[in-house]
Amino acid sequence: MANYHAMDIELAAQEMLRASGAVALPVDLNRILLTYNVELRHARLEDNVSGVLVAKQHETYLIVNESHHINRQRFTIAHELGHFQLHHHGEERLFIDTEMRIYQRVGQPGDATYMSPSSTTTPQEEREANMFAAALLMPAPLIQHAALQHNLWDEFDVASLARTFAVSEQAMSIRLQQLKVVESAISA
Ligand SMILES: [Zn+2]
Repeated sequence: MANYHAMDIELAAQEMLRASGAVALPVDLNRILLTYNVELRHARLEDNVSGVLVAKQHETYLIVNESHHINRQRFTIAHELGHFQLHHHGEERLFIDTEMRIYQRVGQPGDATYMSPSSTTTPQEEREANMFAAALLMPAPLIQHAALQHNLWDEFDVASLARTFAVSEQAMSIRLQQLKVVESAISA
């Protein structure tokens, strides 16, 4: 399976938003799940398990760990939607996600960080699903628009941006760095 380019992932996420009519903030994940016929179930999973995607030929459901913070649940759902959109090609497949790797996504962690005997996905797939999740929850055009109205030198503004998009402050910080918003603000 060929790897996706970052721009392909951005566009795939934007297409999912467009097809679902999910245009308001924070991004309405339920609307996307409904549009793509993915059933959401909440369960009290082991603490290190964030979510599970069960993809079958005619039925797909997603289980999220209900004991996690709501923002983390949203990121997990978006991550699993990434697997659904990028890595599921009609075959039956089970994706089990332990320990969200968002905080390790910047830079290239050694593959050993990702791989475990029980791993159901490749490190590349995990990176792609995380990129997709960030692109889905924090669409680039909306981030860039919001950035024009915020002073990103101010950490409180990162916090308020995070609240607007219903993501963690860490996720927002990573996304801003990824989109070079912070750098372009500095050079402006
Ligand atoms: Zn995953």
